[in-house]
Amino acid sequence: MQYDVIVVGSGQAGVPLAARYANQGRKTVLIERDQLGGTCVNRGCTPTKTMVASARAAHVARNAARLGVRAGEVHVDLAAIVNRKNAIVNQWREGIVKRLTRAGDGLDVVQGHGRFSGPGEIAVNGKRYSAPTIVVNVGARPSDPNIQGLDSVAWLDSTSIMELTEIPEHLVVLGGGYIGCEFGQMFRRFGSKVTIVNRGPHILDREDEDVSEALEEVFRTEGIALRTEVEVVSVARSGPGVRVTLADDSTIDGSHLLVAVGRSPNTENLGCEEGGIALDKRGFIRVDERYRTSAEGVYAVGDVTGGPQFTHTSWDDHRILYDLLECGNGKTRTARDRLVPYAVFTDPQVARVGLSERDARKQGIAYELASMPFAHIARAIELDETAGIVKILIDPKSEKILGATIAGLEAGELIHVFVAMIQAGATARAIVDAEAVHPTLAEGLQSTLLKLERYSVT
Ligand SMILES: Cc1cc2nc3c(=O)[nH]c(=O)nc-3n(C[C@H](O)[C@H](O)[C@H](O)COP(=O)(O)OP(=O)(O)OC[C@H]3O[C@@H](n4cnc5c(N)ncnc54)[C@H](O)[C@@H]3O)c2cc1C
Repeated sequence: MQYDVIVVGSGQAGVPLAARYANQGRKTVLIERDQLGGTCVNRGCTPTKTMVASARAAHVARNAARLGVRAGEVHVDLAAIVNRKNAIVNQWREGIVKRLTRAGDGLDVVQGHGRFSGPGEIAVNGKRYSAPTIVVNVGARPSDPNIQGLDSVAWLDSTSIMELTEIPEHLVVLGGGYIGCEFGQMFRRFGSKVTIVNRGPHILDREDEDVSEALEEVFRTEGIALRTEVEVVSVARSGPGVRVTLADDSTIDGSHLLVAVGRSPNTENLGCEEGGIALDKRGFIRVDERYRTSAEGVYAVGDVTGGPQFTHTSWDDHRILYDLLECGNGKTRTARDRLVPYAVFTDPQVARVGLSERDARKQGIAYELASMPFAHIARAIELDETAGIVKILIDPKSEKILGATIAGLEAGELIHVFVAMIQAGATARAIVDAEAVHPTLAEGLQSTLLKLERYSVT
C-alpha cells in the first residue's frame, strides 16, 4: 500500500508527527505494536511520577510531626496506588486516541509489529507499506544485563515493578541511575527495606560529586542502604527471594530484585539490514543532526537514536524534523544546536541544564561557580525542605550562564529559569538585577549568584 508518510512507533515524536502530517492532508500510516503513546505514557514518566506522588504523600504524612502536626499511623495501600496510576495512564491513552481520531481520514493506525522488508518499505501483519518518507520512533526498553544467574530469578524491570500490589519486604535495586533512584526512594517510602547497588562511586554519577552526595545524604537519612563502587558478580535464588553476590564477596539477600541498568534500543527485529539502516555498536540507529539515517527518505527520532532519552527530547525531535522536512534544511534548528534540560524526580529533585562543573573542567572551559546549599533559602527553611544544593556556572567574560544544576525541592520547575535564560542568551545579571518575590525558592537562585564577588552586595 502506498502512503505519503509512514511512522513506525507511537512514541513522543510519532504521535504528533503522524497527526500533523494527516492534518495537512498527507496520506499517513502510524504503526504501533503495543499500546498507543509509547514508554512515557504507558511505562515511563506518567506512571512513575504518579506513584512518586503517592510515595511523597506517605513521607510527608510520616514527617508531619516536624511541623507540629500529628497524624495517625501511615498505611500505604499499594493496590490503591497502582489503581490510581492505571486510571491516570488510561486517561492519557484515551487522550491520544482522541488526538489521532481528530486527525481524520488521512491517518490510518495499524496495530502490529513493523519491520523493514526492503528500502522504503515496511511489512506489518503480512501487508507491505511504502512511502517516500518513513519516520522510525520505536524507542527503547529496559536492558537485560549479562549477570550470572539472572535468568534463574524472577527479577523486576521498570515496567513490571509498577504492577506489584504488595510491598516488597526488601527491594534490591541494581543501578543508581535516575530510574533506580526514583524507584528505590519510592519503595522505601512505601515501606520496603531498600538497597541500591551501583557500579560507580556515586548514585546519579553523571552529576557533580557534591550534587550526588546531597541526594545520598537524604537517601541514607531515609534508611536506604547504598552500596557504591562495586560490581554485581552473580544473582541466585535464595528461598522465596534472591541473593546478590558482589565483587567484594559480600552478599545481599532481598525479597525482590529490580534491574535498572540502562535501556536498549528496539532495533533487534526491525529489519534494519533489509531497510539499509545503519546501527551503531550498541544497536541504536545512526542519524545525523537532521535525523537522516543511512537510508534515503528514512528518519529516526527519540530514544532509538541513542541521544538524550527524555520525553521532551523526543517531542522536540518531532518539531525539528517536521520543520526540517517542511521548511528545508538550513532554515530551522537541528538536533545539534539545542539545549536539553532534564530532571530526576527523586525527593529532592535533581535538575540540570547546560554544563556541570565536571563537564566544564573536563572540556577546559573557563567558568565562575556560584554555589549555595538549599538550606540557605528562606522558603526552604519555612517549608522544612532544606536538602540540596544550587550550582550556577557563568562565563567570566560575558557573564552568560553556562549551566546550572539544582538539587532541591521543585528543582524540575526552578531549572526553567536557566533554560529560558540560556535559550535567550541572557547574562546572569538579568537575575541579579531582577526583583525576586520573597519568600520563594526562585529567590534562592538570585541569592546564589550574589555569592559571586562581582555581584556581591555586602
Ligand atoms: C521508568 C521510566 C521513567 C521515565 N521518566 C521520565 C521522565 O520523568 N521524564 C522524561 O523526560 N523521560 C522519562 N523517561 C524516558 C521517556 O519515557 C522516553 O525517553 C520517551 O518515552 C521517549 O520515547 P520515544 O518517543 O523515543 O519512544 P517510546 O515512547 O519508547 O515509543 C516507542 C513506541 O514504538 C513501539 N514500537 C517499538 N518497536 C516497534 C515496531 N517494530 N513496530 C511497531 N511499533 C514498535 C513501542 O511499542 C512504543 O510504543 C522514563 C522512562 C522510564 C522507563
